[in-house]
Amino acid sequence: MKKKNRKILYEGKAKILYKGQEPNTIVQYFKDHATAFNNKKFAIIKGKGALNNNISAFLMEKLISIDIPTHFIKKINSREQLVYQVEIIPIEFVVRNTAAGSICKRLNLKEGELLPRTLIEYYYKCDELNDPMISEEHITAFNWANLSELKIIYNMSIQINNFLIKLFSNVGIKVIDFKLEFGRLTKNNKHTLVLADELSPDNFRLWDSKTNKKLDKDVFREDLGNITDAYYEVAQKLGIIK
Ligand code: UDP
Repeated sequence: MKKKNRKILYEGKAKILYKGQEPNTIVQYFKDHATAFNNKKFAIIKGKGALNNNISAFLMEKLISIDIPTHFIKKINSREQLVYQVEIIPIEFVVRNTAAGSICKRLNLKEGELLPRTLIEYYYKCDELNDPMISEEHITAFNWANLSELKIIYNMSIQINNFLIKLFSNVGIKVIDFKLEFGRLTKNNKHTLVLADELSPDNFRLWDSKTNKKLDKDVFREDLGNITDAYYEVAQKLGIIK
């Protein structure tokens, strides 16, 4: 199908989702757009889309290799990947190992302080409301997910965290925190919960293990330098780019 004839299903801040050629598939197109503070800060950063596509495809494949179910099918080209269409659960699951970002302000913690244990927080996906933090109570009361789904997601998130901590630590990077999204996949009349969306430095905080140099979207949020250089360094350290 010619690219311009493709049907746009959804356009977000960093990606466009097109209907895939096969039934129940979607093409995720990674844009060069960078946004922060709920769209208040915005820029087009050449090369960011391709880097995020590469990093996300690489990490999804690694997680598939340890039997984490995901929506990922394959990388199509430098900016696009094919994924299964899923019913997205409207929650951002934030996994935190070290204090940074919003938790520092909320609980008066020092950036870089190791948390007593890994924390998983829930945020309701709603730009209009600035993605408010919510609890299990809200999730089950409003039927965004049920308790057994939450338990599966919690276990998967911990497994993903343990795996990624090791993977990144082997290449000299600390996983500070990250955001995950999950969806319901229906295949051959069977329903499974799968990891969805993307895994890129847009959704992670990653620090150099030795120097604590930031290699993620905080470079853009805090004007710390060139964001493409930081993402490139992550890709290079992971061995994705030579
Ligand atoms: N995050 C994200 N999307 C969001 C909010 C947060 O990907 O809409 C990621 C963010 O990049 C960080 C983690 O989730 O790795 C925790 O973010 P935090 O709650 O500290 O919010 P922030 O400081 O990013 O506003």
